Parts: sequence; C-alpha cells; structure tokens
Amino acid sequence: MPNCPVCRSDDKEGLHRQLFVFPELAAPTHYDVAHCRSCGFVFAENLPAQIQHEYYSEAVHHLHTALPDGLAAIHARFFEFIAAHLPSIHDEGVSVLDVGSAMGHFLARFKAAGIRQITGLDPNPQARTLARQHYGIDVRTGTIDHFTHERPFGLITLCGVLEHIDDLHRGLTRIGALLDTGGHVFIAVPDAGSFGLQTPAEPFLEFAAEHIRFFTRNTLENLFAQHGFEMLACQSQRNTFYGNSYLLALFGRTGAATARSSAYDPAGRASILRYIDSSTAALARTASLIAELAAGQQPLVVWGAGSLSARLCATTALMKTNLLAFIDRNPQLQGKRLLGVPIQPPSHLSSITGCSVLIASTTYADEIENFLLSEMRWPGRILKII
Ligand SMILES: [Zn+2]
Repeated sequence: MPNCPVCRSDDKEGLHRQLFVFPELAAPTHYDVAHCRSCGFVFAENLPAQIQHEYYSEAVHHLHTALPDGLAAIHARFFEFIAAHLPSIHDEGVSVLDVGSAMGHFLARFKAAGIRQITGLDPNPQARTLARQHYGIDVRTGTIDHFTHERPFGLITLCGVLEHIDDLHRGLTRIGALLDTGGHVFIAVPDAGSFGLQTPAEPFLEFAAEHIRFFTRNTLENLFAQHGFEMLACQSQRNTFYGNSYLLALFGRTGAATARSSAYDPAGRASILRYIDSSTAALARTASLIAELAAGQQPLVVWGAGSLSARLCATTALMKTNLLAFIDRNPQLQGKRLLGVPIQPPSHLSSITGCSVLIASTTYADEIENFLLSEMRWPGRILKII
C-alpha cells in the first residue's frame, strides 16, 4: 500500500471510492481517494494499471488542433500571471520548457511575446509534427522521466500535468535536473481547496480516472519545499470553460530543501468531502434521467467515450439502456469498446435513425448539440447532462 505521495506518511483515511470503466476492460474498476493525516494531502490510491501506464501514451491523449476559445482564454491568463510575477521572462536568452505541451498552444503565447528559446515535451509523436506545422515550435517526443537537454532551462512550466503524476518526488527531481541554478517553475493544477464551493457542472469531473493528485496551496508548497523551491506567488483562478478553479503557482529555486511536512493542511479534506456531497447530488439527477432511458428501452447513442462516460457506465444504469454505440471524435478511441459497446466516429450517426443522443460532455455539450443540429440535421431527441 503506497504512502502519502507528498510526506510519505502511511497514516491515511479513505474518503471515496471512484468507479469507472476503461476501453476494452471487461468490468468496471476503481481508485480510492484518501487523505493523509500527517500533512493533509488528498490523493488517489490503489490505481488500476491502466492509469499508471496509459495516461501519457498516445492511446488516450487527444490533441485539439483547433484550440477552443475557452482554453485559449485560460492560457492567456496563465501567461499574464507568469509575466506579472517573473518580469525576467522577457530577458534575452531565457529558455522555457513546457512539460505536457501537446502541440504547443501554450508555448505559442511565449513565442508571440517575443520569447525565442521555447521547447515543448509531449509523449504523443503527433504533437511534434503539429507544433512544427501550426506554430513553428520545437516539441520533443517523450516524458519528463527520460528527457534530457543540452542546456538547463530558466523556466519550466507544467499546466494541468502535476495532477496526473504518480511519483511526484521523482517528477520534481527530474524537473530540478533540467532547471538552471536560479531557475523557476510554473505550475497550474486544479485547486482542490476550491472543490465543492459551487455546484459542479459535471459530477465527479475532478475524479476523472487520470486525475490522481489533489493539491491545495499548502500541500503544493510542502511538496516543492522538499525539493529546494520557495513559493514566490500563488493564486486561485476560476474559469468558465471547465467550470472549476486552477491554482497558479510560481516557484524559485533556493537550493535548500526544507521539510514542511509537519504543517498539516486541513483544507483538502474539507473541500473534498464537500465536493463528494455536491457531486453525489448532481449525479443523482443524471442517474434518474438514465434510469428513465433504461426503463423505456428506446434506442440510444451516447456522444462521448471519455471520462464522464467512463464514470456513468460504472455508476448509473447506462449499460442497462438500449445502447447502440458511443460516438467520439478522438481517433484513438474509435474502434474500441466500452463494456462491449463499440466506440464510433461521428460519421457513424448518418447510418442510424430513430434513436436518441445523450451528450456525455459538459464542457463541449453546446458545441456538440450545434453540430448535431446544423451539420447532421439530427431528427431525434438530444439529451444533455445538466
Ligand atoms: Zn502526507
């Protein structure tokens, strides 16, 4: 049984068991959300092998070639934060590494600001090609575990990455090895301290299978202090695109590792429990809609084979409905199955008539509905998760 990923204590308390399915897996699986009684960090444990091995592989990593406006706005605010707290970013010769860069959407902000030495790192080999074509940006193929570079970087950024990393200490050791002596690290990670403050747009969104680390400001600071970093600035930023808040933090290297693990942070446990309550209430509304569909047995197609569907398959009557197919735009998922039901591309809909479409996405629900109505001229019912 693994210890706390931040302070390594084995004194833990279980808070929640999250069920989900994976493509090609015969039965639902789960992870457990636990809380460390020593430092307060909240984390998922008992991780299925799929999470440990698949998240950073191309199998589930989807690249947006057209950057959604909402995501572009998030990137703009991340960059503003960095520029405000690290004016030296504009100095001649500063080099930047973006870990988990995808095709370089965030790095394009740096390029537009005149910063020349920018490098991306992403495990999906397509990211390298697309980054070169769209932005003229150098993205290397790989993960932080094995990446080496001829020169150290002045700034390393990780946007929406740290919440996925299993071995945080190994990750930070690697980052330290790639960073200049006086270098900086920028982190953007879901703000677990804000979970449950508002009714979640999508129940249990934060417990997507690949989200396994839940940081508050204090637990993030605890982790970095152990690797010789001091927190220079930190801010919680709410966004309407995902309907959640990101914790933005800038760290500077001091060189002196300090153990702050004795500082217990109660914020994570309190907000996670609040979030579980509000998500449970929101899921009950979705579950009753799906139970009606199961009772009626009318033919159904579910748009979205991602994390929401993965949870709904395991926690509602979705698999008891007359479910013909999942539809997903991610080519990496097409051709696979969720609990035996095939995942098809959107074009598959043109061969189906007389069924309802349930949109299993909240972030892209309006866009998908518009596509169904205007492009597909879909004549059947369209249902959304609310
Ligand atoms: Zn701990």
